[in-house]
Amino acid sequence: MTEPGAHGVLAASLTDVGLRRATNQDSFGEFERAAGTRLWVVADGMGGHRGGETASRVAVETMGRVFGDAAEGTTPPDLLRAAFERANAEVHGLARRTPELAGMGTTGVALLLHDAAAWVGHVGDSRAYRMRGGRLEALTQDHSLVAELQRRGFVTADEAAVHPRRNEVLRSIGIEPEVEVDLTALAVEPGDRFLLCSDGLCGVVPDDEIAPVLSSETPEHAARRLVDLAIARGAPDNVTVQVVAIGDAAPARTSAPVPAVARRRGVRRVALTAALTAALLLAALLLLLASGLSRP
Ligand code: CA
Repeated sequence: MTEPGAHGVLAASLTDVGLRRATNQDSFGEFERAAGTRLWVVADGMGGHRGGETASRVAVETMGRVFGDAAEGTTPPDLLRAAFERANAEVHGLARRTPELAGMGTTGVALLLHDAAAWVGHVGDSRAYRMRGGRLEALTQDHSLVAELQRRGFVTADEAAVHPRRNEVLRSIGIEPEVEVDLTALAVEPGDRFLLCSDGLCGVVPDDEIAPVLSSETPEHAARRLVDLAIARGAPDNVTVQVVAIGDAAPARTSAPVPAVARRRGVRRVALTAALTAALLLAALLLLLASGLSRP
């Protein structure tokens, strides 16, 4: 559980091996760069038991490192994209150098919070959701075979939920030398709640059961109850959740634009005064010339 920060953000992360797997191949991380700039990541590894564990752990650690080390002034979307690309290079390189890790990969979903804005990045079928005004909204679209079939109208949501190939991911971190990341920018409002999770939650517990739990409790309590919902449904897979709650007080705004605008307005006023003075001088000169010319 994270303590409330300068912007009243509370967060909790929880992972559980579930009821049928021998090992937990999910990883998660929480990182803070400066007051108000924070990153949460969930990764769900695949590729054999050692490979899956390693891929998700390396991806999360790498993303945290890139986030912490990035140059001052890097924009949040650039930072998030760089974190995913670096994680991809690290996992891919390690898999190529290590025979027993060959073919490993991982999903990744990340939330970057910066002042009153947020960015979500994802690769694979781990998900991000936002709860606002009592409504749960998916912020990511799964990069999976079944999600693609559903988008194209070949299967219904109910068929997708039980499809035998529902675990096939079309995009992942570490499998290819390059990775394509989906990035979404969001405005953050007081009271917003974000959820990041692996498919051990969202593949087992329907959205309409996630929603009330996510909105009604503290992040720590919500995370515990979400994992319990997956366990109550047999938890066939590892379950990982991160709950991020934006405080009810308005997020802090930067004060930089105010002096910048005032200064620009001041410059304009000086320019106007100079133009008026020049016009008056010119008029006086013309009057003098005119009176001189008309003199007999
Ligand atoms: Ca999984």
